[in-house]
Amino acid sequence: MTQTLRSQQELTDLLSSLKKYVLSQKLSGIRFFSPDIRKEEYEPNSVLLERVREELGDCRRCRLHEKRKHIVFGEGNPDARLVFVGEAPGADEDIQGHPFVGKAGQLLTKIVNAIQLKRSDVYIANIIKCRPPSNRDPEEDEIRTCIPFLKKQLEVIRPHIICTLGRIAAQALLVTDTGITKLRGNFCYYGDIKVMPTYHPSYLLRNQDKKKETWVDMQMVQKELGRVPK
Ligand code: URA
Repeated sequence: MTQTLRSQQELTDLLSSLKKYVLSQKLSGIRFFSPDIRKEEYEPNSVLLERVREELGDCRRCRLHEKRKHIVFGEGNPDARLVFVGEAPGADEDIQGHPFVGKAGQLLTKIVNAIQLKRSDVYIANIIKCRPPSNRDPEEDEIRTCIPFLKKQLEVIRPHIICTLGRIAAQALLVTDTGITKLRGNFCYYGDIKVMPTYHPSYLLRNQDKKKETWVDMQMVQKELGRVPK
């Protein structure tokens, strides 16, 4: 009898923790089992990502479509354990339609290689998918309109770690006002996915002395990736 009561109490506690967990996931914007993406459980991530791309279409949801040359959707390994999230496409990315292909991109490739990975091992995307004119910061409403698509990509890939690059990416994904200097170097969470905020490669190109800190951040990422089976 006592045993049964204890089991019932455990069940109630478990249910209450589960409810809290699901609520925290909803609040952080994650929609598990979302019917519009996971129509068929067995579909590979590559197909599911294509579905997100189709949903984005020839997007005209915000003013940035007026001057863009290409939408930069994001690219890489659909089953990546590590996803990098930048801010927004720059001039080179806008012309080519691929993320991080300019000078900052070359440095990002070196960062990826430094932790014994290739670019093709990881997935790379941005908070917004169209270039803001003159590379200005994205406006709040542009982020609000575009970020659901990044979240869908993350929901499909479900990486072990997300590495945000720069202040804007970290603040937008983690929904915080905390500055990048404070955020970097500590794992945060996007739902149940670990997030390592670090400096943006463009910033590192202008502030070479900050590379040391990014190296520290990336070593933490490498160590954490080593903890989980491939
Ligand atoms: N900077 C970014 O934040 N993203 C890119 O894709 C290129 C430069």
